Amino acid sequence: MTARFPAAAAELEQWRDQGRTLPVWWRDDDAIEPTPALERLLQAAAGFGAPLHLAVIPKPATSGLADRLRTENAVCVLTHGWRHANHAPTDRKKAEFGADRPVASMLEDIEAGRRRLAGLFGSRALPVFTPPWNRIAPELVEKLAGAGFKVISTFMPRVSRFAATGLLRVNTHLDPIAWKSARGLLDPAQLDAQVAHELTARRLGQADNAEPYGLLTHHLVHTEPVWAFTQAFLALLAQSGVATWTSPLHEVG
Ligand SMILES: [Zn+2]
Repeated sequence: MTARFPAAAAELEQWRDQGRTLPVWWRDDDAIEPTPALERLLQAAAGFGAPLHLAVIPKPATSGLADRLRTENAVCVLTHGWRHANHAPTDRKKAEFGADRPVASMLEDIEAGRRRLAGLFGSRALPVFTPPWNRIAPELVEKLAGAGFKVISTFMPRVSRFAATGLLRVNTHLDPIAWKSARGLLDPAQLDAQVAHELTARRLGQADNAEPYGLLTHHLVHTEPVWAFTQAFLALLAQSGVATWTSPLHEVG
């Protein structure tokens, strides 16, 4: 599997030589119900002993999903917005929780989402908020801790450990899907270079290695090449000898 990731594999070899540890986590977005694609995702995670963090859309989430996950000991649920509805004007990037609505009504949606997931999934629902399209108004971020969340998760290496008082940031980093074209797999060489670059930055102390390195997937839209890439990346981590699966809550005191 290292053949797919020549640069990342070489970088990980340096980590191994230096006795370093890479904390990793896996977030998969947009689940609402059991599907064949979800089964495939669960199988992939189980095959690598990887804890899976499903970012579930609260409003349409079904009790069928809760029933399906009941026997899955390594699967947690994160709050993925409320309805995954776009409220941004057509000339702006999509957002459910952007700057286009009053903070109070957005907060009501977020609290309703948290309550609904707690009701459906119990303790499997973690206090982690993942805004749809990874976008959220800064004024709203300030309110999340008060709404019961301990972590916010978007995309890109974090620049600071806390997003707001009492709210840690644990982002995702590697998203293999080409959203701007046909939603297939991005150029594998580019993905390999990205992983290598981000891990080098961590090794050199230019990026925060306390933030678990996050794989971000969207099982409902995976093409075969995206599934194959996901498997290969999981194998790369498994073979590296330096990656340790962790929880986005691991820094919460
Ligand atoms: Zn989403």
